[in-house]
Amino acid sequence: MSREDRRAALPAVNRLLDEARAVGLDNSHGHNVLVGAIRDVLDRARSHGGSEPEGGWMAAIQSELERTSRPSLVRVINATGVVLHTNLGRAPLAQRALDAMQEAAGYCTLEYDIDAGERGSRHDHVRALCREVTGAEDAVAVNNAASALVLVLNALAAGGETIVSRGELVEIGGAFRIPEILAKSGSVLVEVGTTNRTRLRDYEAALSPRTRGALKVHRSNFQVRGFESEVSIAELASLFTPRALPIIHDVGSGLLVDLDAWGLRGEPLVADSVAAGAVVVCSADKLLGGPQAGLILGPAGRLDRIRRNPFARAFRPDKMVLAGLTETMRLYRDPTVARREIPVLRMLTMEPAELRRRAERIVQLVAGARTEEGQSAVGGGAFPEAYLPTTLVAIPSPHPGAVLERLRLGTPPIVARTADGAILIDPRTLQDEDLEMLAERLIAARQ
Ligand SMILES: *Cc1c(COP(=O)(O)O)cnc(C)c1O
Repeated sequence: MSREDRRAALPAVNRLLDEARAVGLDNSHGHNVLVGAIRDVLDRARSHGGSEPEGGWMAAIQSELERTSRPSLVRVINATGVVLHTNLGRAPLAQRALDAMQEAAGYCTLEYDIDAGERGSRHDHVRALCREVTGAEDAVAVNNAASALVLVLNALAAGGETIVSRGELVEIGGAFRIPEILAKSGSVLVEVGTTNRTRLRDYEAALSPRTRGALKVHRSNFQVRGFESEVSIAELASLFTPRALPIIHDVGSGLLVDLDAWGLRGEPLVADSVAAGAVVVCSADKLLGGPQAGLILGPAGRLDRIRRNPFARAFRPDKMVLAGLTETMRLYRDPTVARREIPVLRMLTMEPAELRRRAERIVQLVAGARTEEGQSAVGGGAFPEAYLPTTLVAIPSPHPGAVLERLRLGTPPIVARTADGAILIDPRTLQDEDLEMLAERLIAARQ
């Protein structure tokens, strides 16, 4: 038969449908899904020259049904050691946050005041804890730090000018560019200083009757070294506060506890900016360790204006996020509890002995594997310079790329790194209970 003849000879959808029904495939997946799978299998056969799939039509339809029925957001084993891996969902959540999200999934007290038996505010859940933990007078949560910044700028600075240092006009990633955010927020950007040096008098010289405030942005991944200076929040406060103008501080990763003792320095502490009187914007799913959200913290009067802005309604988080965020914040009432219960903080402050113990456990199970001193990265733009010593597991292989692919395509997917002809596993981002399964997968992937 010629290729064209074979194509013409493909079975009709209805014939395959009858056959599939006869073996019960419509019961498990429903009529529409089954017809869709049959069409896809036929399309694929047509583009492959029109022959029957290996293993027969029914097997091909069944495997197509299984493929499209699997969830696409699945758990991944993060063996990279990058704690805040944006592609892998940033912060893994604390158990307490997860439990709260499940509790809130049905009907819940989102906007209902149980004591009064009347309507409440969704903003109240996280507000009291934010006040207690950061010292802020007031707080609002939105969907992420990017939307928080748009909201704050629109509420406080639209129709006027916002002064920003040239050294802080950064792109954070994912097309988040400070000049564009300002433009979209309706505020006119007034650039001051230079890329490497900006002084308080540069801000002072830019003040005009149209000034609505200053924006300070933590540079995250971008570093300026050598001959450089930037103006601190406290200095900015000395200039702007007497003029009743707000200082908006995008601190980025939301560090709420001091991690100096673990060699993690250089990220602004939320409480410090709050104490200086700034309106602080931060991400909730970076160092803070919560679900994806953005927090706005600061003086009550400014927060009132922010809460009344229409964007506050447009960017409001859902009940599950608010539940997870609120319970993550509750853990911060005691910093020791926060470091123990919040996975991001637990991983960042993990003892070298614990990392070594985990690495050695894997080495025991995988012949040919050895431990190696190495470094983990914080990720998410936080502590870009930090040196986090770790003990890696190195598994030499002639084809590390192929092993990496087998690890990735298995269930659950394992994401690791390679270097110098070896697979590298960083135990920092693993769970204790995954070590044995990981070892088995490494052994199988090496074959
Ligand atoms: C990550 C980051 C953001 C964006 O945070 P999202 O919560 O992802 O929107 C904004 N500003 C800074 C300084 C950041 O580091």
